[in-house]
Amino acid sequence: MTKNNVEIGIIGGTGIYDPSMIRGLKEMKIYTPFGPPSDLVYVGTYHDRKIAFVPRHGNNHQIPPHRIPYRANIWALNKLGVTRIISPGAVGSLREDYKPSEFVLVDQFIDRTKWRNDTFYEGGQVCHISTADPFCPELRELFMKSAINLKTVCHQRGTYICIQGPRFSTIAESKLFQSWGADVIGMTLYPEVALAKEMGICYISIAMITDYDVWTDKRVSTAEIMKTMEKNVENFKQIVVNTIPKIPKNRHCSCKNSLKEAII
Ligand SMILES: [Zn+2]
Repeated sequence: MTKNNVEIGIIGGTGIYDPSMIRGLKEMKIYTPFGPPSDLVYVGTYHDRKIAFVPRHGNNHQIPPHRIPYRANIWALNKLGVTRIISPGAVGSLREDYKPSEFVLVDQFIDRTKWRNDTFYEGGQVCHISTADPFCPELRELFMKSAINLKTVCHQRGTYICIQGPRFSTIAESKLFQSWGADVIGMTLYPEVALAKEMGICYISIAMITDYDVWTDKRVSTAEIMKTMEKNVENFKQIVVNTIPKIPKNRHCSCKNSLKEAII
């Protein structure tokens, strides 16, 4: 398969994918050395920019976080030509001042996952990719500006602790993660971010807070969480629609050079 000159990939959860915003929509079945991606990949145009959408959990939300084919998803997007990935995800908040329905432009992560395939380099070539600064500074700035313009509360920094799931944390774990300096908790950021880095793809995580994690007694019902998620999805769509036309065609960041000096 030849490259399709798709520039931007969105790996999104339920409700994020809105075919009405994409023109010339094509559904593509992509084969990868790592098995099939989460689902068909949807490719189309928005404001003259070619974008691809991968429903992270599959179209019917049937794939749990620990079974997501992360390598196949990133490989497929890279094959299509994607150089920038926008990755929204639902998270719990570990701090009082990061409130449900607010967003966080995550700038660091802590990996607490287990048994996930988290590299494309399984031998032959050895790759020690740097994840000191895992997220694209250029995309972070553009998305921050859009959030401010749209008056969406979006925190500029945050450490995302990625747990294996699918179970939620115990109270003891939640408090431990707070003491480590984690700000939000989720199950899907890792290894997506590291694999994108291995491909030299710019990657941004937009953490959308649905609830306070179990460290607090501010527990909410599933119905309330679902309501917050709906609101988050609407805000996310607004930010994406606002930002995509502003993403410059050429990259001014150093993300594409991530493999330099990483391969032995
Ligand atoms: Zn970048």
